[in-house]
Amino acid sequence: MGAVSVDKLGKTFGAMNAVKAIDFAIGDGEFVFFLGPSGCGKTTTLRMLSGLLMPTGGQISIGGRDVTYLHPRHRNVGMVFQQNVLYGHLSVFENLAYPLRVRRVSGTEIRKRVREVARTLQIDDVLTRMPGQLSAGQSQRVAIGRMLVRDADVFLMDEPISHLDAKLRAHMRAELRHLQKQLGVTTVFVSHDQLEAMSMADRIMVMEGGVVQQFATPQEIFDRPVNLFVASFVGEPHLNTLDVTLELRDGVVTLAGRGVAVAAPPGWIDETVVRANIGRDLALGVRPEHVDVAIAAAADTIPGKLYAIEPLGAEDLFTVDVSGRFVQARIAADRAATFPTPVRDPIHVRFAPDHLYLFDKETGRTLA
Ligand code: ATP
Repeated sequence: MGAVSVDKLGKTFGAMNAVKAIDFAIGDGEFVFFLGPSGCGKTTTLRMLSGLLMPTGGQISIGGRDVTYLHPRHRNVGMVFQQNVLYGHLSVFENLAYPLRVRRVSGTEIRKRVREVARTLQIDDVLTRMPGQLSAGQSQRVAIGRMLVRDADVFLMDEPISHLDAKLRAHMRAELRHLQKQLGVTTVFVSHDQLEAMSMADRIMVMEGGVVQQFATPQEIFDRPVNLFVASFVGEPHLNTLDVTLELRDGVVTLAGRGVAVAAPPGWIDETVVRANIGRDLALGVRPEHVDVAIAAAADTIPGKLYAIEPLGAEDLFTVDVSGRFVQARIAADRAATFPTPVRDPIHVRFAPDHLYLFDKETGRTLA
């Protein structure tokens, strides 16, 4: 059984506090992503789960068993990394069979399991080849196959597909997601690619500065980020943010900044939050998919100048200069075609009122 639970897990490298006493729990069979920018501590956390790195403090249990200081071999975890070394002197078949041979599995069983895994990963036609005769994508599948072939309680993957080309990566994403669901083995996947995490994970643990920022489903992370860091890290293109202060204008809660005045939709911001934040520096956030553009000004529009239009296929990405700050809007291509506006011409943006975010500039915390 592969439930993982971690209690006050920490790791320091000299003065460097890479992982700061974090707690989390992963359910049996869950597909979890550790997501965050370079240096946030995700690999260090994964390596502590694997046993390749000993923690400075805290506890790790897998399937209810304390494994904190167990050797990797005794944790029953399967691992695959960004760069994997296959045994160069062994055929693909023998590379896949190796983890079973060391566990003294019978020859018949080995042939059966290797064939199954090879078929699933579509490498059954290269079983007799040597690793030197494989493409990068095939080698990586063999490495993944070597992990899948044995009955591990938990699979740990550190950016296993990040160096593959875009097409193969997209294919592998779907394949790994399918395999994980089919096998039902608890899987932790380290990535800095939010698209990868959003499309594959059951839950995402967003990390920054050695701390867990949020651990939730992709939808929750996207819709209800707990802070500005999480809100900005997920979503492509990134969240638009504008510096504002909270003001009461004729009794209407207004978020006002340079060239911007947005009336807060009634009830959006909790009254206690309004009272505590009048006059304070805040950040107003809105995702590009929730920004519209218009030629004519209206009560709820913000004036700007068109800076660029990038066709993205089904949509165009409009970049609008709003008093020196860029605001991006994703506009359906057929509608975008109706805007004859040349660059540098006046244009207006409108934020969808039910998709606004408000953050405390100082702490980053989501206020509304
Ligand atoms: P990346 O995506 O770049 O691998 P990461 O989020 O996985 O980043 P970690 O590799 O966990 O980050 O590193 C976290 C911090 O700990 C970084 O600041 C890193 O420089 C530091 N660190 C990691 N390993 C060591 C080590 N062996 N000695 C010293 N510092 C280390």
